[in-house]
Amino acid sequence: MRNSMSLTDSDFLRYSRQVLLPEVGEKGQITIAKSHVVIIGVGGLGNLVAQQLAAAGVGHITLIDGDRVELSNLPRQLLFNDTDIGKNKALVAKEKLSRAYTQTKLIEVSEHLTQANISQVLTVDGHYDLLLDCTDNFETRQRVNRVAIESCTPLISASAAHFHGQLLNIDQQHNPQSGCYHCLFPADMAVSQTCQTVGILGPMVAAMASMQALMALQHLLGDRQSVGKLFRFDGKSFSWREARLPRSSDCVICGQKQGPLGRELGSSKFTSTEKEYV
Ligand SMILES: [Zn+2]
Repeated sequence: MRNSMSLTDSDFLRYSRQVLLPEVGEKGQITIAKSHVVIIGVGGLGNLVAQQLAAAGVGHITLIDGDRVELSNLPRQLLFNDTDIGKNKALVAKEKLSRAYTQTKLIEVSEHLTQANISQVLTVDGHYDLLLDCTDNFETRQRVNRVAIESCTPLISASAAHFHGQLLNIDQQHNPQSGCYHCLFPADMAVSQTCQTVGILGPMVAAMASMQALMALQHLLGDRQSVGKLFRFDGKSFSWREARLPRSSDCVICGQKQGPLGRELGSSKFTSTEKEYV
């Protein structure tokens, strides 16, 4: 990019199909290039989300994962191959994406997010516009949600297991009446389904990763239609369900910040307005 106000000729060519969209245009492409997205978890979801965002021209991506590549990851985690087994996922993904997408600045954090390091890790590289939860464990999801609420940073959380996928857009700055991950899943609630326990097909993960990346780009471009909504995909019937997630007055993460209006809305449950798509 020549400067912050215009695209180079090469950028115009590279991103021509997305610049063609009225929702993007040159201004939107520059916004994408100036954005910093943090991806927590570089497994099945994180692999594909990171690649799609780098390919779309996101200027700054931080990849966080303490796991190492295993043989059983390869059918879903398409950035990795046999020679990567045993290496840190965030580091391998960063090296490969940096070679393929030179316009994107990639930073890797090769450790798990813990209660002890999360504040430091998420401030290590300055301001960020969007958090993407691509993890596979409940504790980290709760941790990321808490940081997102406390730091007033938008968060898009995705998950996939068996033939079920889920997507949740959390942005209480934009929609103070909407809930957070903890409103939906209180921390003491048991969540048993993971890829390790119930299995998954690669394209099921890829479908949810693509939706998360699409939602992320729209969010960066200022489209907030999906904020405060929970989307569920059934990979057998190929149907989507959508529900509003209201802020819960009982939520220990976001409930205490509620004003009078939030308290009123918090009494309803998340199944209030459910739509079904086929
Ligand atoms: Zn909440």
